[in-house]
Amino acid sequence: MPIALRGHHLLCLLGYRGMGYSDTYVDNMTGVYRTLLADPTTECEIVSGPDQLCQCFPADGEYHCEDRNVAERDALIVQRLGLQAGQVVSWAEILSRVAQSLQPDDLFQICSTCPWLSYGVCQEGIQRVVAGEELPMVRPKVYGVQVDEQTRCKHYYSEIDIIALKFGCCERYYPCYECHLEAADHPPKPWPRARFDEPAVLCGACGHELTVQAYKSCESKCPSCQAAFNPGCLLHHHLYFE
Ligand code: SF4
Ligand SMILES: [Zn+2]
Ligand SMILES: [Zn+2]
Ligand SMILES: [Zn+2]
Repeated sequence: MPIALRGHHLLCLLGYRGMGYSDTYVDNMTGVYRTLLADPTTECEIVSGPDQLCQCFPADGEYHCEDRNVAERDALIVQRLGLQAGQVVSWAEILSRVAQSLQPDDLFQICSTCPWLSYGVCQEGIQRVVAGEELPMVRPKVYGVQVDEQTRCKHYYSEIDIIALKFGCCERYYPCYECHLEAADHPPKPWPRARFDEPAVLCGACGHELTVQAYKSCESKCPSCQAAFNPGCLLHHHLYFE
C-alpha cells in the first residue's frame, strides 16, 4: 500500500528531525520517514485532506488538519511540484521534483503561518535535496528509565548493553523488560511471531533496525556497524519474542 501524504507533509518530512506533537505522532512520523529514507522507491499517494501523519495527531491537541489554510498550502505545494491529488509517485520522484522546483526561501511564502518555520530545519531539508545530499537519519525514540544515547538503561548499562527491543503491546522500543514494567502504563507483550520479518531490534550504536530473524542470526554483532551486543540477552528471548 502506498503511503498517503498530503502536499505540505511532503516538505515537512524533509525537515523532520524527530520532533512533533506527541510521542505517538513522533513514533508514527519517524516510521514513515525511515521507510522513505531506507527505500526511496516507496510509493506515496498524494491526498488532499488528512493523511497517514494526521492520523496520529493527538486527540487533545488543537486539531488543524482540516483547516482551510492548511488545505490551501497543500494545494500550492502539490501544484508547485507538478503533482495532483490521487497520483501515486515514488519518494525518489518527489525528491527530484523538489530539487527542480523549490528553493529553501520559498518556504517563507508557502509556510508563512507555520509555527515550525522559524526552526529552519525545513529550509535546511530543501537545501540538502537541492544539493543532492542525503537527509539525516532519525532514530526511533527509545522509552524507559535512564536511557542513554546508545540505549543503555538503569538496569543494563555495560559497554555492550546497546540494543533496544520493540514490544508487541505498544510497538515502542525499550532497552529492557524492566524498563517497560517501570515506565509504561500497561503490561509488556513480546513481539509477535507473525511479525518476525519486521524491524523490532534497534542497534544503539548506529541506529540500524534489525528484524527478529536478522537479530537471531547476527551472532551478537550489529550487521551494519559491527558493534558487539550482549550475548546474555539470548537468555531472555522469551520475554521479548513470542
Ligand atoms: S514550515 Fe511547517 S508546513 Fe512548512 S514544511 Fe516546515 S513544518 Fe511543514
Ligand atoms: Zn508496551
Ligand atoms: Zn532497563
Ligand atoms: Zn549498529
